[in-house]
Amino acid sequence: MVEMASRIKPLDVSVINKIAAGEIVIAPVNALKEMMENSIDAKATMIDVLVKEGGIKLLQITDNGSGINKEDLPILCERFTTSKLAIFEDLSKIETFGFRGEALASISHIARVTVTTKTEKDECAWKASFSEGKMLGDPKPVAGKTGTIITVEDLFYNIPSRLKALRSPADEFNKILDVIGRYSINNDNVGFSCKKFGDSKVALMIKSDLSKKDRVRIIFGAHVSTKLMELHIDVTNDVEKNGLLSASGLITNLDFTNKKPIQPAFFINGRLVSCDPMRRSFNQIYSTFLPKGNKSFMYLALTIRPQNVDVNIHPTKREVRFLHEEEIIDALAFQLQEKLASIDTSRTFKTAS
Ligand code: ADP
Ligand code: MG
Repeated sequence: MVEMASRIKPLDVSVINKIAAGEIVIAPVNALKEMMENSIDAKATMIDVLVKEGGIKLLQITDNGSGINKEDLPILCERFTTSKLAIFEDLSKIETFGFRGEALASISHIARVTVTTKTEKDECAWKASFSEGKMLGDPKPVAGKTGTIITVEDLFYNIPSRLKALRSPADEFNKILDVIGRYSINNDNVGFSCKKFGDSKVALMIKSDLSKKDRVRIIFGAHVSTKLMELHIDVTNDVEKNGLLSASGLITNLDFTNKKPIQPAFFINGRLVSCDPMRRSFNQIYSTFLPKGNKSFMYLALTIRPQNVDVNIHPTKREVRFLHEEEIIDALAFQLQEKLASIDTSRTFKTAS
């Protein structure tokens, strides 16, 4: 028997919104990253995170940034509402993390969201709750400091399959700690803390005046931080032509003995990204200098001409593409090689004398 073609029907908007939200927020850590980036966009100098059950029951972010205007609260969680991007061309010179106006909207479609916020000029803070993109009732005046508190509760309450697929709360909590830690290294003018709900002690505390090195020590341990050296990439004309404007970071030296792989902390234009070709290339170079089986740690922040970077290839913005990727990675790898070679010879001299 011939199968009849199924009729095409539009999806229900609530289904569309849930699907879209599920692509952006795969696990609590994705929601956290979006909100942390919003806080940094709002020029916060302190970001405190409170977590219950790995962020599934509760994820609360308190910042001392600019706050949100009360008048904007009604559309805060609507899709595609943003204070950061006006015309498409702006995308090529965007300097903020956000631009899509999708994060809070997405979160509000798969969790219960409450926002308490105060701008410098407001006399009190305003509190409002959101569901499925909409504000519930009117904002209520409450006491509060300048900045924003975003509370996300019962993440994925309406997507049971996603809830089941999550790892244990302990694993989800570790992913959250890891992302906060990595962002704290790259944002060394900002303080960060993270606490489990009900615990009297914080799980992570990074004071705003700590150096990058101290941050690495707190996050990855003294065995890493004491073996760090600075890497400054010389941006030659050739490299600049390819769009690389600056590159620097902290990398472990050749005395670092460590068998456990630590994911590198790569940032491109302030965004934590995974860049596998870069990771592979750098690991390859390290492996020629390190004793067999030893692994390095690398923190590297690149500035690439924004027009050359496409952050829009992955809903979580975790991967990025940039023009002249191979040339840029090769140029960086060459300088890494030179740096490691220079300390390798000085090491040989030392042991020889
Ligand atoms: P986007 O960051 O892409 O603009 P979001 O959904 O993440 O989209 O946020 C929407 C808007 O809400 C932002 O453009 C910003 O104006 C405001 N906002 C969100 N979080 C904060 C915050 N912590 N402090 C100040 N403003 C915020
Ligand atoms: Mg955002």
